[in-house]
Amino acid sequence: MNLQTPVIKASRAYKMYARRLENLGIYKLEDFLYHIPFRYEDYSLISDIGKIQAGETVTVRGKVESIKNVYTRGHKMLERALVSDKTGNINILWFNQPFLTKIIKQGDTVSLSGTVESERGKPQMISPDYEVVYGGKAIHTGRLVPVYPETKGISSKWLRRQVFKLLEEKDQIREYLPEDLIKENKLMPLGEAFEKVHFPDNLDQATNARERLSFDELFEMQLASLIRKKSWQKKVIKTPMKIDTQKIDGFIRSLPFALTNSQVEAYKQILENLSSENPMNRLLEGDVGSGKTVVACIAIYAVFLNGFQSAFMAPTEILANQHFNTIKDFLSPFGLQVALATGTSKSKTGKFDVIVGTHALVYDKVTFDNLGLIVIDEQQRFGVEQRAKIRGKGDNPHLLTMTATPIPRTVALTMYGDLDLSILKDMPTGRKQVKTWLVPPVKRDGAYDWIKQNVIKNKEQAFIVCPFIEESENMISVKAATKEFERLKTQIFPTLRLGLLHGKLKTGEKDEILDKFKRGQIDILVSTPVVEVGIDIPNATIMLIEEAERFGLSQLHQLRGRVGRSDKQSYCLLFTQSKNDVTLKRLKALETIYSGAELAELDLKLRGPGQIYGTVQHGIPRLKVASFSDFELIEKTRIEAQKILDNINKYPALLEKVNNLSSKDVSPD
Ligand code: ADP
Ligand code: MG
Repeated sequence: MNLQTPVIKASRAYKMYARRLENLGIYKLEDFLYHIPFRYEDYSLISDIGKIQAGETVTVRGKVESIKNVYTRGHKMLERALVSDKTGNINILWFNQPFLTKIIKQGDTVSLSGTVESERGKPQMISPDYEVVYGGKAIHTGRLVPVYPETKGISSKWLRRQVFKLLEEKDQIREYLPEDLIKENKLMPLGEAFEKVHFPDNLDQATNARERLSFDELFEMQLASLIRKKSWQKKVIKTPMKIDTQKIDGFIRSLPFALTNSQVEAYKQILENLSSENPMNRLLEGDVGSGKTVVACIAIYAVFLNGFQSAFMAPTEILANQHFNTIKDFLSPFGLQVALATGTSKSKTGKFDVIVGTHALVYDKVTFDNLGLIVIDEQQRFGVEQRAKIRGKGDNPHLLTMTATPIPRTVALTMYGDLDLSILKDMPTGRKQVKTWLVPPVKRDGAYDWIKQNVIKNKEQAFIVCPFIEESENMISVKAATKEFERLKTQIFPTLRLGLLHGKLKTGEKDEILDKFKRGQIDILVSTPVVEVGIDIPNATIMLIEEAERFGLSQLHQLRGRVGRSDKQSYCLLFTQSKNDVTLKRLKALETIYSGAELAELDLKLRGPGQIYGTVQHGIPRLKVASFSDFELIEKTRIEAQKILDNINKYPALLEKVNNLSSKDVSPD
C-alpha cells in the first residue's frame, strides 16, 4: 500500500467517487487517514439482550433468527428482524431499506447500535446502525464510532470502511519524526495515532492521537518555513546598499502628511533590510487605507539612490494604473523615471527607475539593467512561480510583499515564518476613527431616532446591514433583507428615502441603486452583508449592523470600513440581542480596537479559525487537523522545528515530507 497513490488509481470504486471525494479534500489514499472525525458516537456499551431497557443507547450482538421485507397497508416497505443471544431476543425494525435482506441473512451474527424503544412493553430497536460481524472487529457498532464530515453520496459509514481497510496495513506507515523528539514531546507513534484518531478505545486516546497529528502538521509547516528562511539567508548581496538618510528624510518631509507611527516603524525596518547583506523578504500588512504605498515608495527611493531599479507589481490593471499615477506623483519630483507595463500599455522598454505593472512584468519583455527591489501588492493573488520568475530578473533583489488581509500574527508566524513582518496598526491621522457602539436592545428606538436626526439635519447617509445568514447569498437572506427593508420603510423611516441592495439583483439594478446612493438620492441603503459595497461614498457616515454577533470581528471591521471615508465623524452601530458575556465582550472589542490584524487575532482566539471571513480565498490555508488558535502548540512546534533545523539532513523521511509541503506552498518565496 502506497499512501501517496491517487484515489483514482487505487480502486475502481474510488474512481466512481473521485469527484465527491475531492469535495472532502481526498485526492490520495493518505487523505482518507487525514479525514478526521469531528465527533464519535458512543456505542461502546455492549449489552445482553435480556438486560436492555427502553431509552438506553446500546449495542447488542446476536444471531439473526429471521429477517424479511414486509409491506404496510400504506404500501411502504419495512424490514423486520428478530435477533437473539443467550439471554433473550429483540425485534428490529428498519424503514424502506429492502437491500438489507441481501446484506443481512438468517444465521448471521450482527452487531446493532442504537436507542432502545419500547413496543407493547417489549424492547425494540428502530433503524439501528448495523453490521454483520465475521469474527473480526466491529467498525460501525459496539465501540466509539467515528462520525466524519460527509458530502453527497459519501456517508460516514462508507468512509469508516475505507479508513478501516487502509488501517489494516498501518504497520507500513513510516514514522518520520526523530525518536528523541517523539519521546520528549510524549507523542503517540504515527501509526497508532492514525488508528486511534479514527477508532479510539476511549476519548482520551482520541485526543492524544489528534494531538500527535496536529503536532506533525504545525511542525512541518514551521520547519518548511524555517528551511525557506535559511536558504533565503544564504543569498548574499555583493555590495549592500547604503542608506542616504538625509535624502530620505527630505522625501518624507515633502509628503503632504506626517507618517503614522507604524509607517515610520515599517520603513525603518525596511531600510535596515536594504542595507543588509541578505536580500529582504518582508511582508507589510495593513488595512485598506493604512498607507502601504507610501512606505513602498520610501523603499523604492532608497533603492534608486543606490542606482538600482524597482518593480512594483499589482494584481489588476486598474490597480496598476492607480499605483503608477500615485508613484509618479510621489517620486518623479525626486528624479525617478516611472514606467507602466500592463497588458494594454505600450511603453514597456526604455529607461526607467521604477516600473509599475501587472503580470505583464513577469511575462512580457520587460528587461531590467539592475533590478534591486520588487514590491508585490496583494501577494496572495500571485503564484509561487510568478514570484520566482520576477525574482529571476535580478541578482538577488529585495522583496517586499504587501497585503490588506488581516492575517493574525500567529498565523503569519506559522505560514510565513520565513518572512519578516511589519504591521501597520494605526490609520493615518486626520482621518477620524469610526466611533463604534454596541447598542443594547432597549436603545434600539433611540438609535433609530438618532439616525433620523443625523440624516435630516446633517444630510448624511446610512447603511443598514441585515443579519449574516449564509456565506453565499441565497433566497433566505434576500427575503430577510427585503422584509427588513419593508419594515424600516413603512414603520421606522417613512419620511426618508430607502434603497434595497442584494445579490439577486441584476448588475444593472445594483449599479443604479449604488449610483442613486452616491448621488444622495437615497438616504438609507439596506443591504445584505455579502453585497460588496466597495465604492466610495464619502457622505455615508453611519453603518448599522443587525445581529452583529453572527459576524466575525474582521468582517465587522470590513463593514465598518465602508464609512469614515471623509473628514466627517462617522459611526458604526452594532445591534445584538445576545446576552452571552463572551459574545458581548467580543463585540465590545470593536469599540476600542481599530486594527484589522489585531481583530483577526482576537477572532481566532475567541471563535476559532473557521470564522475569519473568507480565510480560504485570502490565502490562509485550511489545516487538516491542527488549529491556528492552538497558540501553545504553535509555539512548541516552532521551538522544536528550530532545534532540528541544522540537523535536518539526518532525517531524510522528514525532509522529504517537508519538501513535498514546500512545493505546493503559499508563501511568497
Ligand atoms: P493602502 O494601505 O490601502 O494601500 P494607500 O497607500 O493607498 O493605502 O493610502 C491610502 C491614502 O492615504 C492615500 O491617499 C495616501 O496618500 C494616504 N496616506 C498614506 N499615509 C498617510 C498618512 N500618514 N497621513 C495621511 N494620509 C496618508
Ligand atoms: Mg494599496
